[in-house]
Amino acid sequence: MSLANKLTQERRARLAAERLLEQKQAELFSANQKLGAHAKKLSDEIVETRAEVKNVRDENQRVKSDLSVAQKKIEIAERRLWLSIESINDGFAFFNSDSEMIIANKSYLAVFDGLEEASTGLTYIRMLQLITEEGIVDIGNMSPAGWRAKMLERWQSPNPAPETIKLWNGEFVKLIDQRGHGGDVVSLALNITEVVKTERALREARDKAEAAARAKSSFLANMSHEIRTPMNGVVGMADLLIETDMDDEQRLFAQTIKNSGEALLVIINDVLDYSKLDAEKMLLQIEPFDLETAIHEVVMLLQPVAQEKGITVAVDYDLFMPTQYEGDVGRIRQVLTNLVGNAIKFTGEGHVLVRVVGVSDASKKMTQLHITVEDTGIGIPEEKLGHVFGEFNQVDDATNRSYEGTGLGLSISQKLVRMMGGQIWVDSVVGEGSSFGFKIELATFGKPEPVEAVRLAGITKAIVLEQSEQMAKLLTRQLSALGLGCHTSETVEDVLQAAQKGAEVVFADSEVAGYDLVSALDNAGYTGALVLLSTQLGSYQKQGDTRLAIHQLPKPLSRRKLLEKLQAISKAKAHEAPSLYVVNSEGDVKETEATESTNGRAMRILAAEDNKTNRLVFQKMVKPLDIDLQFAENGKEAVEMFQSFKPDMIFMDVSMPEMDGKDATRAIRKLEKGSETKVPIFALTAHAMGGDKEEILSCGMDYYLTKPLRKGEIFAAIGRNQPAGVRDIASEG
Ligand code: ADP
Repeated sequence: MSLANKLTQERRARLAAERLLEQKQAELFSANQKLGAHAKKLSDEIVETRAEVKNVRDENQRVKSDLSVAQKKIEIAERRLWLSIESINDGFAFFNSDSEMIIANKSYLAVFDGLEEASTGLTYIRMLQLITEEGIVDIGNMSPAGWRAKMLERWQSPNPAPETIKLWNGEFVKLIDQRGHGGDVVSLALNITEVVKTERALREARDKAEAAARAKSSFLANMSHEIRTPMNGVVGMADLLIETDMDDEQRLFAQTIKNSGEALLVIINDVLDYSKLDAEKMLLQIEPFDLETAIHEVVMLLQPVAQEKGITVAVDYDLFMPTQYEGDVGRIRQVLTNLVGNAIKFTGEGHVLVRVVGVSDASKKMTQLHITVEDTGIGIPEEKLGHVFGEFNQVDDATNRSYEGTGLGLSISQKLVRMMGGQIWVDSVVGEGSSFGFKIELATFGKPEPVEAVRLAGITKAIVLEQSEQMAKLLTRQLSALGLGCHTSETVEDVLQAAQKGAEVVFADSEVAGYDLVSALDNAGYTGALVLLSTQLGSYQKQGDTRLAIHQLPKPLSRRKLLEKLQAISKAKAHEAPSLYVVNSEGDVKETEATESTNGRAMRILAAEDNKTNRLVFQKMVKPLDIDLQFAENGKEAVEMFQSFKPDMIFMDVSMPEMDGKDATRAIRKLEKGSETKVPIFALTAHAMGGDKEEILSCGMDYYLTKPLRKGEIFAAIGRNQPAGVRDIASEG
């Protein structure tokens, strides 16, 4: 190779080397620059991190100091809590899920009386053992093992029920254990000795108070018995005295004795009832009864006062409503007696109307009854209306001051109605009258009477002669409901005219037109039936011959009696064998062959009564009735006469010498064994307390009447129990 070529090559090589060098230098520079930048960034980061580290360090410091403050606080709180727990009288302990005691306060451990084992770490099972071994708890007559098993079972349940234990020293401790989520148990042992002592003292005080209340009510019962018995004599004899020959002044004295005696009895009854209600000793006695009969009995009792004042008392019992219910008839009668009694007392003229309506729920066999007692009396001012149901509250103004009373009647009535789950209310307009009402729900009893199905063949028209417009309206409505056409008359002449146009039956008020009407109808040749309505049974006495069929019905009219009478008349009209309808004590109407009917024997009644005065009073009371009455003077005689006299009904005094009424009844019931019929026995008693009734009825008596006896009650009792085939007790003949 030439030199020139070699030089060229070398130059080229050198140039290439120079370029490579430049390039490497440039790369080196750039790398250097990057390195510089990175170093700067790093150093920045270091600065930042340092600041952060400082921050964190500061924070840490703060947290540390906070933590120690908190720790101190916790320690203080814990100390305080523990001090508190230690200082309480009740025991406190904490057990872990293995039932080991973790902590327990002094009170909890006190029962172990310094026993070394009784401290933290003690298991519950061991604790129970210590308790029984050391005799710490009075376990009664349980075995120690049995007691421990019982306590352990309780302890292991998820929610142990509180348990009261008695310690050896007579103190009582109530254990309350609460299981936490992890199985820990907080155990409290409350010392309830004081509470138990107080409870015991209270119980003793209550028992004493109850014994005192019982003593008080039995004292009241005895007193009422003691007072009633002589009162029976006072009222009864005064009643008899009035009917003897006396001058006016003597009569006034006798009447005053009688009235005062009766008033005193009302007060005794009121006070007795009120104290029983107040002591919540009054119990309702639920039994089947006939509401309509109960109302009529009440009205019958109060009738004499109403009559004296010339006030008509009418009963409007919805014709299509059942009459048989289950309830406390005695108490319902009491409320009615108070309301009707007040209505008569505070009414000078006009009428008193007892209205009964109701809504029956056939599916539930219940009836919502509304019973109202309306009067046309003095009324009550509006501002006093809310006040009359309070105790001893009487509307005290000039018009009212002249009326006697205790002011307890309405308060007792309200309490009784409320006890029966009902309500009582009053509406009144001064000078126009008042309307007291109450509503109660009662279960219907037995089958409702099929009033709609009654057929009165041969009777299409009736004439009504009544002095009271109210009565006339009521009777007309009842007759129309039975499908009869009605004509109301005000005079005998008008009755005669109407009768000529044809009417099969005439209803007439016997006090207004009894004897006159009989002779007028007789003279006019009337051949229909005449029904005399009277407030006094048997007040009309048949005189001479008459072709008229004369019947009597007591006022106020009972729809059942009215129906029976009409059915009897209807049968006679249809020329069928005359029938007699008898209502038995259940209220069923039974038809019997009437061969003996009007001319049958008199109803035989036996009255067992040891007291001569009471026998006299009884005899006098039933004098208007056509009955065959005989007396037995003690229980033994009553049993003998039951066999020889064969009474249709017995009135039996409860307390009698030799053999009392209860034993006599038992003996009679024994004699009756196997026979189909049972003679109705009415107990006559001076007792009026709740429990007596059951005792009397349990020996086999059917009903009970409290002394002093009332004419109305006796009549109603006899009337309800007339057997088939005997003469009507109010028979005209
Ligand atoms: P008593 O009749 O024994 O006074 P009650 O509690 O039965 O007591 O009645 C309280 C009062 O309510 C009566 O005193 C009377 O002022 C008033 N009162 C009750 N019923 C009637 C009524 N039908 N008409 C007017 N006032 C009446």
